[in-house]
Amino acid sequence: EPIIHMRGVQKRYGHFTALKGVDLDVAAGEVVVLLGPSGSGKSTLIRCINHLEEYDAGDVFVGGVRVERGRNLLKVRQQTGMVFQAFNLFPNLSVLDNVALGPVRVKKLSWDESRAKARTLLTRVGIGAQAEKFPTQLSGGQQQRVGIARALAMEPRILLFDEPTSALDPEMVGEVLDVIKGLAHSGVTLVLVTHEMGFARQVADRIVFMEDGEIREVSTPDVFFSST
Ligand code: ADP
Ligand code: ADP
Repeated sequence: EPIIHMRGVQKRYGHFTALKGVDLDVAAGEVVVLLGPSGSGKSTLIRCINHLEEYDAGDVFVGGVRVERGRNLLKVRQQTGMVFQAFNLFPNLSVLDNVALGPVRVKKLSWDESRAKARTLLTRVGIGAQAEKFPTQLSGGQQQRVGIARALAMEPRILLFDEPTSALDPEMVGEVLDVIKGLAHSGVTLVLVTHEMGFARQVADRIVFMEDGEIREVSTPDVFFSST
């Protein structure tokens, strides 16, 4: 059974149809990269997986749970972490507490337990030394690594990345992509929207190419990049 199952998913914004009936299955542990022109619906698609956008028609299941308003939503959100283009860190919390907060709130860990875990994760993404700082004291690349550690702290089965390096200065893109590469094939399922083609080719099990609100092609990186 796929960990993500989407059938006939449609999404409208007013009169504009951003998703025109999308079908996609993702296997547990798989790395899927969504490519396609700006405005083709990539971000909307991944936001329908964790219900940041509510779809208008079709079905989305995450770990066998239907993604819909109501009590299913907590089960879906517990399985999915998200890393945003603009980091979305809490400016008034230390780096450490940005990472520790989720498990305290949602998993009901004590602050001590959660901070210990957060330190381990910050070390894993290479910024253990920045734990006591505040987000604005960090470079963009460091802030995005906090964003990844924060998502990992919830121990999700699925991590969604919406253009995780698009807001970064070019010299910081590599350090964030390296962290993501380290997560690939570690068991967690990754769905990424990115414009980093070399990275996509290296890390993806499958490339999903979108255009105009539809999936136009699903292929392996080798096939995809030899045909374009
Ligand atoms: P992509 O991620 O491929 O760039 P998006 O999913 O962000 O595409 O957007 C698809 C289309 O939907 C774009 O034309 C965008 O302007 C439009 N769109 C996205 N979000 C909204 C919104 N909240 N309201 C109206 N239109 C939106
Ligand atoms: P991204 O490419 O990362 O999706 P955008 O700048 O397209 O970033 O969108 C940022 C936010 O604005 C998103 O929440 C998106 O849903 C919303 N948005 C995008 N396009 C439109 C639009 N045409 N009208 C209203 N909201 C939009």
